[in-house]
Amino acid sequence: MAKEKILIIEDEPDIVRMLEYNLKKEGFRVVSAPDGQEGLRQARKQCPDIILLDLMLPEIDGLEVCRALRQERDTAGIPVIMLTAKGRESDKVVGLELGADDYITKPFSLGELIARVKAVLRRSRDKEKQPDIFKAGSLTIDFSKIKVSVGNKRLELTAKEFELLSALIKAKGRVLSRDYLLDNIWGFDNALEIQSRTVDVHIQTLRKKLKQEAKRIVTVKNYGYRFEIEE
Ligand code: CA
Repeated sequence: MAKEKILIIEDEPDIVRMLEYNLKKEGFRVVSAPDGQEGLRQARKQCPDIILLDLMLPEIDGLEVCRALRQERDTAGIPVIMLTAKGRESDKVVGLELGADDYITKPFSLGELIARVKAVLRRSRDKEKQPDIFKAGSLTIDFSKIKVSVGNKRLELTAKEFELLSALIKAKGRVLSRDYLLDNIWGFDNALEIQSRTVDVHIQTLRKKLKQEAKRIVTVKNYGYRFEIEE
């Protein structure tokens, strides 16, 4: 297997040097960026397998970087571990809502960081093997047969509703923005007011059809939607 590539977005050179040295020793390829702007550029260019993202960055902060990563098709699936400062609990919550996979609090031990990196990479490899059947509560979806049912009742979904539901489920609990959904399901690349409404209208009809499982589609105010897998 090719060596996995890690992108470190961090403005403190000492931390970058220490991480680079030790992660390379673990057998990873490592690239780094000293600020958010450059981090986004590198994420697009390098296609890393995982990103270590410091939240306190000059210019664009880490949360903005995380949001931008999740909005772009090419970077939306890259796992992100946030490096947060102690006592910034709210950052952690926002970061996880924006789709970060894990976080680690500074100062961290190297052993812990490497263990987290490996665990997140393992999860992301498993995720690529998407099974044909997905179940959550009384909801069952057969992706290969394009069949959706709640309990033993089969639902009649339109093609767009099915795509919308599939995209939300495949995001595994991550928030997908309206812009992302418009772009990926409808193929609109500029979100005018009326087009953003398209997503909302389809979510409404989808929720109605999902009956008791409707609550799994969670609205993230002024942003988008996510699918709640847990009960
Ligand atoms: Ca920093």
